[in-house]
Amino acid sequence: MPATLRPTILLLWDIDGTLVTSGGAGARALRAALHGSFAVDGSLDDIDFAGRTDRWILREILQKFALPTTEENFRLLLDAYLDALPRELANPSALVLPGIRAILAATAGHPAFAQGILTGNVRRGAQTKLAHHGLWDHFAFGAFGDDSELRNELGPHALRRARAHTGADFALDRVWIIGDTAHDIACARALGARVLAVATGSHALDALAAHRPDALLPDLTDTAAVLRVFAP
Ligand SMILES: [Mg+2]
Repeated sequence: MPATLRPTILLLWDIDGTLVTSGGAGARALRAALHGSFAVDGSLDDIDFAGRTDRWILREILQKFALPTTEENFRLLLDAYLDALPRELANPSALVLPGIRAILAATAGHPAFAQGILTGNVRRGAQTKLAHHGLWDHFAFGAFGDDSELRNELGPHALRRARAHTGADFALDRVWIIGDTAHDIACARALGARVLAVATGSHALDALAAHRPDALLPDLTDTAAVLRVFAP
């Protein structure tokens, strides 16, 4: 497309606690997968999933239950988790977070913006969680937990795909990661991008403030205020 029509602001959205909440579906699907794959039952409550990649979470689970961290075991557990996820998402607490549909509609209709996903979910899990609410089609590209076990390594994958998809060369001070945990803030710092932290997930406003995000909001219900963060 002509350079003048190319977007200049890139938004990279986290999923869990930022776009949607799944009512514990992820943890229940992991427990079901652990039972189905290894006949092991146990609490996962002591594993802090928030802001982590699927691969990191699977490694924690395998190690907790003294299961070998082989590729075969990773694949078994991941496939069983992904198979269990759709039925666990079918619960009344799986919701799109307040303001999300409005802000996605506003940015999707604005030629300055391009937006993708930056999540620790593997791509299939991300698609399952977002398609459940009709949100998947908002995002033509992204970086996923398939790309790395370490969230801080995901940013360059997202940026490369954004550039390839749009043909735009985004300046890093116009790249915004939007997320609900300190790990999202660290991920933005690793990329050299900006970060809007939002306290709709597992981290409270003051806990996020301690990590000094570029912008911080209690939620994304004020569409005009969110747009002012990205394009002041
Ligand atoms: Mg999150």
